[in-house]
Amino acid sequence: MCCYNWNNLHFTMKDLYIVGNWKENKTVDEAISFLSEFTKTYEARPNIKVIMCPAYLAVPQVSAFVKSNNLQVEVGVQDVSKFSEGAHTAEVSAYEASEFANFSIIGHSERRSRGDTDDDVKTKVEMAIKNNLEPIVCVINENVPVPQGTKIIAYEPVEAIGTGNPDTPENAESIASSIKSKNSQVQYILYGGSVTSENVRSFTEKENIDGVLVGGASLDPKAFSSIIKAC
Ligand code: PEP
Repeated sequence: MCCYNWNNLHFTMKDLYIVGNWKENKTVDEAISFLSEFTKTYEARPNIKVIMCPAYLAVPQVSAFVKSNNLQVEVGVQDVSKFSEGAHTAEVSAYEASEFANFSIIGHSERRSRGDTDDDVKTKVEMAIKNNLEPIVCVINENVPVPQGTKIIAYEPVEAIGTGNPDTPENAESIASSIKSKNSQVQYILYGGSVTSENVRSFTEKENIDGVLVGGASLDPKAFSSIIKAC
Protein backbone atom coordinates (compact mmCIF):
# COMPACT_ATOMS: atom_id res chain seq x y z
CA MET A 1 0.00 0.00 0.00
CA CYS A 2 1.29 3.33 -0.84
CA CYS A 3 0.37 6.57 0.74
CA TYR A 4 1.66 10.01 0.52
CA ASN A 5 2.67 11.79 3.63
CA TRP A 6 1.71 15.32 2.71
CA ASN A 7 3.72 16.59 5.65
CA ASN A 8 6.82 15.66 3.71
CA LEU A 9 5.70 17.95 0.94
CA HIS A 10 5.36 20.94 3.22
CA PHE A 11 8.06 23.48 2.52
CA THR A 12 8.63 26.26 4.98
CA MET A 13 9.92 29.62 3.83
CA LYS A 14 12.66 30.99 6.06
CA ASP A 15 12.02 34.18 7.98
CA LEU A 16 13.58 37.26 6.43
CA TYR A 17 14.25 40.74 7.75
CA ILE A 18 14.30 43.67 5.34
CA VAL A 19 15.54 46.82 7.06
CA GLY A 20 15.40 50.29 5.50
CA ASN A 21 17.92 52.74 6.95
CA TRP A 22 16.98 56.26 5.87
CA LYS A 23 19.99 57.81 7.61
CA GLU A 24 19.89 61.64 7.59
CA ASN A 25 17.14 61.85 4.98
CA LYS A 26 13.45 62.84 4.89
CA THR A 27 11.55 65.47 6.80
CA VAL A 28 8.32 64.41 8.51
CA ASP A 29 6.32 65.44 5.42
CA GLU A 30 8.66 63.53 3.14
CA ALA A 31 8.48 60.47 5.38
CA ILE A 32 4.67 60.50 5.28
CA SER A 33 4.68 60.97 1.48
CA PHE A 34 7.03 57.99 1.22
CA LEU A 35 4.67 55.84 3.31
CA SER A 36 1.61 56.90 1.31
CA GLU A 37 3.37 55.88 -1.91
CA PHE A 38 4.87 52.74 -0.38
CA THR A 39 1.45 51.42 0.70
CA LYS A 40 0.33 51.45 -2.95
CA THR A 41 2.90 48.85 -4.02
CA TYR A 42 3.94 47.06 -0.81
CA GLU A 43 2.65 43.51 -0.42
CA ALA A 44 3.22 42.14 3.10
CA ARG A 45 4.36 38.52 3.23
CA PRO A 46 4.04 36.32 6.35
CA ASN A 47 7.72 35.31 6.46
CA ILE A 48 9.12 38.80 5.89
CA LYS A 49 9.52 41.43 8.59
CA VAL A 50 10.00 44.89 7.14
CA ILE A 51 11.61 47.45 9.46
CA MET A 52 11.77 51.15 8.60
CA CYS A 53 14.38 53.24 10.38
CA PRO A 54 13.67 56.95 9.82
CA ALA A 55 15.68 59.85 11.19
CA TYR A 56 14.70 60.50 14.82
CA LEU A 57 12.48 63.54 14.19
CA ALA A 58 10.21 61.51 11.91
CA VAL A 59 9.99 58.43 14.14
CA PRO A 60 6.80 59.40 16.07
CA GLN A 61 4.84 60.29 12.93
CA VAL A 62 6.05 57.23 11.05
CA SER A 63 4.98 55.11 14.01
CA ALA A 64 1.55 56.83 14.11
CA PHE A 65 1.08 56.33 10.35
CA VAL A 66 1.99 52.64 10.62
CA LYS A 67 -0.50 52.13 13.46
CA SER A 68 -3.38 54.08 11.99
CA ASN A 69 -3.03 52.47 8.55
CA ASN A 70 -2.37 49.01 9.96
CA LEU A 71 0.71 48.88 7.77
CA GLN A 72 2.58 45.59 8.21
CA VAL A 73 5.95 47.13 9.00
CA GLU A 74 7.92 47.68 12.18
CA VAL A 75 9.58 50.92 13.19
CA GLY A 76 13.23 51.06 14.16
CA VAL A 77 15.70 53.76 15.09
CA GLN A 78 19.21 54.19 13.73
CA ASP A 79 21.06 54.37 17.04
CA VAL A 80 20.48 54.86 20.77
CA SER A 81 22.40 56.67 23.46
CA LYS A 82 24.77 54.66 25.61
CA PHE A 83 23.38 56.58 28.60
CA SER A 84 20.05 55.84 30.22
CA GLU A 85 19.06 59.49 30.75
CA GLY A 86 20.36 62.84 31.93
CA ALA A 87 22.74 65.58 30.86
CA HIS A 88 23.76 64.24 27.45
CA THR A 89 22.85 66.95 24.96
CA ALA A 90 21.35 65.67 21.68
CA GLU A 91 21.30 62.03 22.73
CA VAL A 92 18.13 59.92 22.58
CA SER A 93 17.86 57.09 25.08
CA ALA A 94 16.67 53.59 24.30
CA TYR A 95 13.87 54.21 26.80
CA GLU A 96 12.68 57.28 24.86
CA ALA A 97 13.01 55.47 21.53
CA SER A 98 11.02 52.51 22.82
CA GLU A 99 7.90 54.68 22.99
CA PHE A 100 7.75 54.46 19.18
CA ALA A 101 10.12 51.75 17.97
CA ASN A 102 10.77 48.03 18.43
CA PHE A 103 14.21 47.79 16.82
CA SER A 104 17.45 49.75 16.81
CA ILE A 105 20.37 49.62 14.44
CA ILE A 106 23.53 49.78 16.56
CA GLY A 107 27.17 50.09 15.51
CA HIS A 108 26.63 51.13 11.90
CA SER A 109 30.04 51.72 10.30
CA GLU A 110 29.09 55.39 9.87
CA ARG A 111 28.71 55.66 13.67
CA ARG A 112 31.83 53.63 14.35
CA SER A 113 33.83 55.88 12.02
CA ARG A 114 32.61 58.85 14.10
CA GLY A 115 33.84 57.36 17.35
CA ASP A 116 31.64 54.48 18.50
CA THR A 117 33.92 51.81 19.98
CA ASP A 118 33.16 48.12 20.48
CA ASP A 119 32.53 48.97 24.15
CA ASP A 120 30.03 51.69 23.19
CA VAL A 121 28.26 49.22 20.94
CA LYS A 122 28.11 46.72 23.79
CA THR A 123 26.61 49.32 26.17
CA LYS A 124 24.10 50.46 23.56
CA VAL A 125 23.01 46.86 22.98
CA GLU A 126 22.48 46.48 26.74
CA MET A 127 20.42 49.69 26.79
CA ALA A 128 18.35 48.53 23.82
CA ILE A 129 17.62 45.10 25.26
CA LYS A 130 16.74 46.55 28.67
CA ASN A 131 14.17 48.75 26.96
CA ASN A 132 12.65 46.10 24.67
CA LEU A 133 14.31 47.31 21.51
CA GLU A 134 15.73 44.46 19.40
CA PRO A 135 19.27 45.46 18.43
CA ILE A 136 20.45 45.00 14.85
CA VAL A 137 24.21 45.12 15.28
CA CYS A 138 26.28 46.10 12.24
CA VAL A 139 29.69 44.52 11.72
CA ILE A 140 32.14 44.98 8.87
CA ASN A 141 33.56 41.46 9.11
CA GLU A 142 33.44 38.27 11.15
CA ASN A 143 36.07 39.50 13.65
CA VAL A 144 34.04 42.34 15.17
CA PRO A 145 32.87 41.40 18.69
CA VAL A 146 29.20 40.54 18.95
CA PRO A 147 27.69 41.85 22.20
CA GLN A 148 25.86 39.43 24.45
CA GLY A 149 22.14 39.28 23.74
CA THR A 150 22.49 40.13 20.05
CA LYS A 151 20.23 38.01 17.86
CA ILE A 152 20.38 40.02 14.63
CA ILE A 153 23.63 40.97 12.91
CA ALA A 154 23.99 43.01 9.75
CA TYR A 155 27.18 42.18 7.90
CA GLU A 156 28.07 45.32 5.97
CA PRO A 157 31.49 45.56 4.32
CA VAL A 158 32.38 49.26 4.18
CA GLU A 159 33.47 49.18 0.56
CA ALA A 160 29.99 47.96 -0.45
CA ILE A 161 28.02 50.69 1.35
CA GLY A 162 26.57 53.30 -0.99
CA THR A 163 29.06 52.44 -3.75
CA GLY A 164 27.05 50.27 -6.13
CA ASN A 165 29.65 47.54 -5.57
CA PRO A 166 28.01 44.85 -3.44
CA ASP A 167 29.94 41.97 -1.93
CA THR A 168 29.56 38.68 -3.76
CA PRO A 169 26.75 36.52 -2.35
CA GLU A 170 29.30 33.70 -1.94
CA ASN A 171 31.60 35.81 0.24
CA ALA A 172 28.67 37.23 2.23
CA GLU A 173 27.42 33.68 2.83
CA SER A 174 30.84 32.55 4.02
CA ILE A 175 31.10 35.50 6.45
CA ALA A 176 27.52 34.90 7.65
CA SER A 177 28.24 31.25 8.27
CA SER A 178 31.43 32.13 10.15
CA ILE A 179 29.61 34.69 12.36
CA LYS A 180 26.89 32.16 13.19
CA SER A 181 29.41 29.45 14.04
CA LYS A 182 31.35 31.79 16.34
CA ASN A 183 28.24 33.21 18.06
CA SER A 184 25.55 30.67 18.86
CA GLN A 185 23.23 33.39 20.18
CA VAL A 186 22.97 34.99 16.69
CA GLN A 187 19.86 33.83 14.88
CA TYR A 188 19.72 36.10 11.86
CA ILE A 189 22.41 37.57 9.64
CA LEU A 190 21.46 40.32 7.22
CA TYR A 191 23.63 41.46 4.36
CA GLY A 192 24.01 45.20 3.71
CA GLY A 193 25.77 47.10 0.95
CA SER A 194 24.36 48.30 -2.39
CA VAL A 195 21.32 45.99 -2.27
CA THR A 196 18.83 46.44 -5.12
CA SER A 197 15.80 44.56 -6.41
CA GLU A 198 18.11 43.01 -9.03
CA ASN A 199 20.60 41.52 -6.57
CA VAL A 200 18.59 40.94 -3.35
CA ARG A 201 17.55 37.39 -4.17
CA SER A 202 21.14 36.30 -4.79
CA PHE A 203 21.82 37.13 -1.12
CA THR A 204 18.59 35.99 0.56
CA GLU A 205 18.65 32.62 -1.20
CA LYS A 206 21.89 31.78 0.62
CA GLU A 207 21.44 29.42 3.56
CA ASN A 208 22.90 31.69 6.25
CA ILE A 209 21.63 35.06 5.01
CA ASP A 210 18.33 36.00 6.59
CA GLY A 211 17.59 39.36 5.03
CA VAL A 212 19.12 42.64 4.00
CA LEU A 213 19.83 46.08 5.37
CA VAL A 214 19.14 48.67 2.70
CA GLY A 215 20.36 52.26 2.66
CA GLY A 216 20.03 54.18 -0.63
CA ALA A 217 17.36 52.00 -2.23
CA SER A 218 15.13 52.27 0.85
CA LEU A 219 14.61 55.98 0.18
CA ASP A 220 12.43 55.36 -2.85
CA PRO A 221 9.06 53.71 -2.12
CA LYS A 222 8.90 51.77 -5.41
CA ALA A 223 12.53 50.63 -5.20
CA PHE A 224 12.05 49.49 -1.59
CA SER A 225 8.82 47.59 -2.28
CA SER A 226 10.47 45.99 -5.35
CA ILE A 227 13.27 44.71 -3.09
CA ILE A 228 10.69 43.17 -0.74
CA LYS A 229 8.85 41.59 -3.68
CA ALA A 230 12.05 40.24 -5.23
CA CYS A 231 13.49 38.40 -2.23
C1 PEP B 1 23.99 51.12 4.73
O1 PEP B 1 24.35 52.27 4.85
O2 PEP B 1 23.85 50.42 5.73
C2 PEP B 1 23.76 50.58 3.39
C3 PEP B 1 23.66 49.29 3.27
O3 PEP B 1 23.67 51.49 2.38
P1 PEP B 1 23.46 51.17 0.82
O4 PEP B 1 22.30 50.21 0.69
O5 PEP B 1 23.15 52.51 0.21
O6 PEP B 1 24.72 50.59 0.30
